[in-house]
Amino acid sequence: MSKRLIIAIDGPAGAGKSTIARRLADRVGAVYIDTGAMYRAIALWAIRSAIPTDDSHRLEVLAQNAHIQFSKGHDRILLNGEDVSDFIRSPEVAGAASEVAALPAVRRVMVTLQREMAQRSSIVMEGRDIGSVVFPNADIKIYLDASAEIRARRRADDLTHQNVPFDLTSLTRQIEERDFRDRNRAASPLIQALDATYLDSSNLSAEEVENEILKIIRAKTSNGKELVH
Ligand code: C5P
Repeated sequence: MSKRLIIAIDGPAGAGKSTIARRLADRVGAVYIDTGAMYRAIALWAIRSAIPTDDSHRLEVLAQNAHIQFSKGHDRILLNGEDVSDFIRSPEVAGAASEVAALPAVRRVMVTLQREMAQRSSIVMEGRDIGSVVFPNADIKIYLDASAEIRARRRADDLTHQNVPFDLTSLTRQIEERDFRDRNRAASPLIQALDATYLDSSNLSAEEVENEILKIIRAKTSNGKELVH
């Protein structure tokens, strides 16, 4: 690969960002980075330490002291050396993640880390503010969306797959609350960057979404043939 590529994928919960970002990273030989997992890891540590999710000062210190690493093809996340990948997937941690993610002091620490992660290789980074704040100059920006019903169903499928117990009605309500909080917070709310391409994945397979994005990558990179095989 001749030039380092930054591909930013933003969107609400359950839009299919992780699936697509992983596939794209494989396809273009980039590193996959799930920034939601980083906020979830901070939230997990806050819960374990009994720190309220609105205690900005203590959570800033906690975020500064958190040693976050990705391993195994960037599919597992380590918090202070412990693999917490399974613990961070519960609806409880998801809700707490969206509360700690509303704190500007926590976001500052995470954004610095995220920018450092992109220094050595091409990346596909997914989250809420990647195209708008973390990498406003990203080469490719995608805003991935899907209907609320489909997003809830996808999250339910994920949790079933991960053997995490849930109740569909409360899961749907939790996703709605989380999206509302993510869209309406003052610090880096979930928005579509002006130069991002909007894609609705409700009626598309993962392969179709991937192919749409590969077309965009080819069109935007002068040497696209080298990057995308
Ligand atoms: O993507 P995921 O659902 O794992 O993210 C969990 C929470 O982390 C989101 O609801 C959001 O509040 C927060 N988040 C964020 N900015 C990001 C990624 C995630 O605020 N870049």
